Amino acid sequence: HREPAEIVKKLFMLGIMTNQNQSLDKDTIELLAAEYGINAQQKVHEDISDIDKAYSKAMEASKESKNQIKRPPVVTIMGHVDHGKTTLLDRLRHTHVSDHEAGGITQRIGAYQVRLDDRLITFLDTPGHAAFSNMRARGAEITDIVVLVVAADDGVMPQTVEAIDHAKSANVPIIVAINKMDVPGANPQHVTEQLMKYNLIPEDYGGDTIFVDISAKTGQNVDDLLQMILLQADVMELKADPKQKAIGTVIEARLSRGRGPVADILVQQGTLHVGDPIVVGNTFGRIRTMTNDRGRQVKKVTPSEPVEITGLNDVPESADKIVVFDDEKTARSVGEQRAQQALQKQRENVTHVTLDNLFDTMKKENMKEVDIVLKADVQGSVEALQQSLEKIDVEGVRVNIIHSGVGAINESDVTLAGASNAFIIGFNVRPTATAKSQAESDGVDIRLYSIIYKAIDDVTAAMKGMLEPTY
Ligand code: GDP
Repeated sequence: HREPAEIVKKLFMLGIMTNQNQSLDKDTIELLAAEYGINAQQKVHEDISDIDKAYSKAMEASKESKNQIKRPPVVTIMGHVDHGKTTLLDRLRHTHVSDHEAGGITQRIGAYQVRLDDRLITFLDTPGHAAFSNMRARGAEITDIVVLVVAADDGVMPQTVEAIDHAKSANVPIIVAINKMDVPGANPQHVTEQLMKYNLIPEDYGGDTIFVDISAKTGQNVDDLLQMILLQADVMELKADPKQKAIGTVIEARLSRGRGPVADILVQQGTLHVGDPIVVGNTFGRIRTMTNDRGRQVKKVTPSEPVEITGLNDVPESADKIVVFDDEKTARSVGEQRAQQALQKQRENVTHVTLDNLFDTMKKENMKEVDIVLKADVQGSVEALQQSLEKIDVEGVRVNIIHSGVGAINESDVTLAGASNAFIIGFNVRPTATAKSQAESDGVDIRLYSIIYKAIDDVTAAMKGMLEPTY
């Protein structure tokens, strides 16, 4: 403890004129602390500076809350290229938007809401599993239900399988929409049989997966699909507490000329208001405007509602978490602190599971399963490897193949592995150039083999902590 007079004197000697009643800025405090040999750490808001924790806490709190009410489900559409994802999203946007009197063109804000009878459904506007798993890899789990679009005239294709595995690995229920029913060659029965091999079993066959035959082009049965989404949502009892302080997630963000940083966000709990001080990822601000999917300015937003917000200090990243604070000053200091921490983190590298650190990671994280993505040149090898790998049992820890397929290791494999903390085994295949560089930057381990028993031996040895290092 120092007397104020002494500090004023010291500052005077440092060339800073001040008096006892003036507050000091951060730089001056640091300077002063250095003079006294103290390491000036800005006061850390331990309980709130960790936005992830504050976010999870708010999520948990809502589950206990008596104010919980039903909230609209959030849906991502997935499926193979050209099977009709975009057509379905467009049809829904144009025929089912929540009110028509707006008359205008809907805004593209990363997600939109559709109304059926008196209930709403939120659709994320970027279809496909890449966006889905990228969000997940960054810790955002905003999708409640996946609609898997499969063309009735084409059937299950590689990206259909990828989508199934991505959804399953995220534990998100799948509703199957067999599309293009208007096409003469449509064969929904065949598609259903194919999907049953992936454990998507319709109720008629004793399973619990919802199947709907639709045509995104003609609109046939699209209402049924919406009805089924709502039914699934009811089964899941999706709820939120609109009365608590709001939390949400960034869907996408950009810098707008004239308006500054703009973020499309999804509110998940509570009610977000214009004027709320917020921290968003590593940035902060006070909400200046909110615009909904119909281009309308709104003053407040409730759970599952997507809006575009302005008023942020910097452009956040997609999947960033949003937490509301009581006052702008705290939001600012937390935001600034997080920006600093993020810079620091960037320098240290994040570690993923690799064959080399597998044993240590298994012990440290008390892993019960070792997740692997498996790619090979022919189906026979995929099956042989999968069977052998799944037989490995090291002290009760088993191998779980979260995705397998024939062909080169692609970006989707790397994204899935990254999101699931898995590593990749390639048998007689290589990664594509983009997959290779993505794996390097994401820290995903890819192991290539051309002898089956060598792959089995390596995985077994790694699980026992006895893998010979490779040079
Ligand atoms: P995406 O790659 O999954 O987004 O597929 P698109 O929505 O772009 O659709 C690919 C093509 O299939 C386009 O030419 C669409 O017009 C067509 N298509 C989509 N849905 C249907 C459908 O229900 N019936 C028919 N006949 N064509 C469709």
